[in-house]
Amino acid sequence: MSHRDLPRHALWITIYLFFILGPLFVLLIGAMPPARDFATEFSVALGYSGLAMMGLQFGLTARFRHVTQPLGEDVIYHFHRRISLIAVTLVFVHPLILLVAGSEAMRLPDSLMELPLGAVFAGISVCSLLLLVVTALWRTRLKIRYEVWHASHIVLALLAIGAGLFHMIAWGFYLDNPWKRAFWIGVVALWIALLLYVRVFKPLFMLRRPYRIAEVRKERGETTTLVMRPEGHAGLRFQPGQFGWLTLWGSPFKITGHPFSFSSSAQADDGRVEMSIRRLGDFTDAVQSVAPGQRVYLDGPYGSFTVRDSTAVKVMIAGGIGITPMMSIIRTLADRGDKRRLILIYGNKDWDSVSFREELEALQERTQLTVVHVLSRPHVGWTGESGYIDAALFKRHLPEGYADHEYFICGPGIMMDAIEAALGEMDVPLSRYHSERYSFV
Ligand SMILES: Cc1cc2nc3c(=O)[nH]c(=O)nc-3n(C[C@H](O)[C@H](O)[C@H](O)COP(=O)(O)OP(=O)(O)OC[C@H]3O[C@@H](n4cnc5c(N)ncnc54)[C@H](O)[C@@H]3O)c2cc1C
Repeated sequence: MSHRDLPRHALWITIYLFFILGPLFVLLIGAMPPARDFATEFSVALGYSGLAMMGLQFGLTARFRHVTQPLGEDVIYHFHRRISLIAVTLVFVHPLILLVAGSEAMRLPDSLMELPLGAVFAGISVCSLLLLVVTALWRTRLKIRYEVWHASHIVLALLAIGAGLFHMIAWGFYLDNPWKRAFWIGVVALWIALLLYVRVFKPLFMLRRPYRIAEVRKERGETTTLVMRPEGHAGLRFQPGQFGWLTLWGSPFKITGHPFSFSSSAQADDGRVEMSIRRLGDFTDAVQSVAPGQRVYLDGPYGSFTVRDSTAVKVMIAGGIGITPMMSIIRTLADRGDKRRLILIYGNKDWDSVSFREELEALQERTQLTVVHVLSRPHVGWTGESGYIDAALFKRHLPEGYADHEYFICGPGIMMDAIEAALGEMDVPLSRYHSERYSFV
């Protein structure tokens, strides 16, 4: 993502705060119930805000292009994770304050059967939230498959928010007022509608715009390129560097799509798109067996990892399969006859696993491209760069005036952290580089 759009980011934060605090302030309009002590009112305000923050998560993850484009999908998901923890904390602190303040509401009845309905719903909401947090934070450690986790994540979120709303209605007080109650029910319905938009309306749209696998190409480095052609429609238009969500088996209503960068040129005029997929887990493993003729679905394009600056030298730093968006950028610029200087610093384990090695060589004839291969396990006789990409390597290969170039970084998280630190050392401002992280979770 680019870090140059600060005013726009500030606007998005203001809009976000409006949606969180707006519904809370609506409770203060018109007729008010009798005032309670500060601790109770404060704790209730935290509960309402926590619920609003959780509900808005459906908006954050609804893949609205106007939201994701300026900020970048990875930033949205990062925000989603961080803000969820704050929301859950608010919801947990809500009863804790009441408990500490010795509120009547927290007194347990003699028998569980006498528990008020509002308390039962609060319990359901809090337990769902607890499960949601534990499975989200420790999914890998708990060995939960991504697809299973994804489905349970949605169900638990719906349960937490639904039970939260019923808790508020059953407890009454502010929501005893019929129009305030109607307002909050409407707000929650809107959040759930956002989920329906992603899970029902978007898939319906995709269903009418299928693609067919035209070709399957094996690449070096356990990578398979799927060439897909639109069937009965013009296909999507993407900018080089963007990605799409791919559904290979089943209908677009399937909960889990997988994100992959487009690796082909954006100049194809027949709507053809390519994705190059490295073997990494069960889904990417199965990609090896895809056959031409298979029907697939694509949702996209998404992402802001795109060329913007018209003058600067473009420096692309790729690690492993992080080469795919760079391939799209280089192929597109080659097809456009763009003669700007391109420098690709491409890190791989060994020479045999360098995907697109031969094509990159050919592309150097059609563009002003220089490729610097960096191998972490070089073979005997290798005379090129080896080890890890760092500031010293940049200084050996990049023209002076480092802060004037435009940088694109995509690769394993650990490599990206090191490169961002190296660029910092070279006084390259954040506004000059774009990062694409291949993990949202
Ligand atoms: C913006 C973006 C672009 C990407 N582009 C490419 C590309 O061009 N080529 C390529 O080979 N890989 C790409 N990836 C990575 C690719 O999406 C994952 O490798 C793939 O989804 C793993 O699925 P799996 O079931 O084979 O592996 P698993 O072992 O199930 O998953 C491995 C890890 O990948 C992540 N992951 C799995 N499924 C999903 C999903 N549905 N959504 C998000 N993350 C998931 C999780 O962190 C998981 O722990 C990209 C990822 C992102 C976020």
